[in-house]
Amino acid sequence: MNGHPVKLKENVEIKPHTTFGIGGVARYFIEIKSVEELPEAIELAKKKKAPHYVIAGGSNLVFGDGLLYITLIKLCPPKTGKLIEVRGNKITCDASVVLMDLVNSAVKNSLGGMETLSGIPGTVGGAIVGNAGAYGQAIPDKLEKVLVFDGQKKKWLTKKECKFVYRGSIFSHPSEREGSAVAFSAHGKRGGFATKVTSNPSLYVLRAVFKLDKGDKKALEKKSREIIEIRDKKYPPGLKTPGSFFKNVLINEMPRESLKFLPTDRDYFGKVPAWHFLNQVGARGMREGGIAIADFHGNYLINTGSATFEDVKTLADKLKKLVKDKFGVELEEEVVYVAE
Ligand SMILES: Cc1cc2nc3c(=O)[nH]c(=O)nc-3n(C[C@H](O)[C@H](O)[C@H](O)COP(=O)(O)OP(=O)(O)OC[C@H]3O[C@@H](n4cnc5c(N)ncnc54)[C@H](O)[C@@H]3O)c2cc1C
Repeated sequence: MNGHPVKLKENVEIKPHTTFGIGGVARYFIEIKSVEELPEAIELAKKKKAPHYVIAGGSNLVFGDGLLYITLIKLCPPKTGKLIEVRGNKITCDASVVLMDLVNSAVKNSLGGMETLSGIPGTVGGAIVGNAGAYGQAIPDKLEKVLVFDGQKKKWLTKKECKFVYRGSIFSHPSEREGSAVAFSAHGKRGGFATKVTSNPSLYVLRAVFKLDKGDKKALEKKSREIIEIRDKKYPPGLKTPGSFFKNVLINEMPRESLKFLPTDRDYFGKVPAWHFLNQVGARGMREGGIAIADFHGNYLINTGSATFEDVKTLADKLKKLVKDKFGVELEEEVVYVAE
């Protein structure tokens, strides 16, 4: 307890808490201002006997429609610059810190190693969970250790113990954890609620320590600016989107007979962009209900205003089938569905 008991609200609209603007109503909702409040929020959520689900920036999520029988716990970002501590070439910061604030802080202190992460939306915690990366760098590169809460106690995990995989980690894949099981699932028919939801793995990121490289401040600032410019063209600000919808495809996991479909124009360093396949099955400009795929990028789904979870799922399944039938490649969602 920290003197400010967390408050539980009922029947809260989910859409405004995601960049995609999709989702129904959360039966219970708790907004917390600091990671310190997470244990208390989880205790309160457990009393409601609804699965709890922690979100932060909401930039990688697709929620189900209708009334979701969950307790949604939102970790709110602090005011810029707070909760980031720089000592020499080490930075400690809370999970709720906006990733861009961390990057700016590193650059301002002439520390290199995360400048190409500039412009990735969301928080440091969300980035660790999903192993976020862009333009040659990824969040684990300079990560030293992570403070986690396992539902009972806090403990530090080394980078190795976080078991990072491409766009995933021990935090996103409960099966990576020994002896673990997804906490619980509530469903459907209970009390007339229509949607089935499973809790996220009950291992939460509270804080992280990064060890960066000494660098040239001007060069780092320039790189960061360049990346933001590229991204602003790729993801025009203000559009409702979760960013890339499908993960890029790992070449060493592709079926042998599909390798003939690899792009030959340049080296993709072990991963083929999902758009390479999507563009060739006519994804660009496709529509389903309120969802439109960008006409310049086949892996970029946009909510035109009234899209539903059903629209997203129908389109995603259609795209996966088209790519599988033509190239033998199984696309996998990068976004996380919070519904079934
Ligand atoms: C326009 C756009 C561009 C994007 N570009 C990129 C890109 O270039 N590279 C990239 O990797 N991603 C990209 N993304 C995806 C997204 O920004 C990242 O996945 C981001 O790191 C998610 O952070 P978040 O705080 O929004 O997490 P959320 O979306 O809120 O949550 C994501 C997952 O993390 C879990 N989670 C969040 N915080 C915690 C915590 N503290 N403890 C435990 N679990 C937690 C949630 O339960 C959920 O399962 C993009 C998204 C958008 C909208």
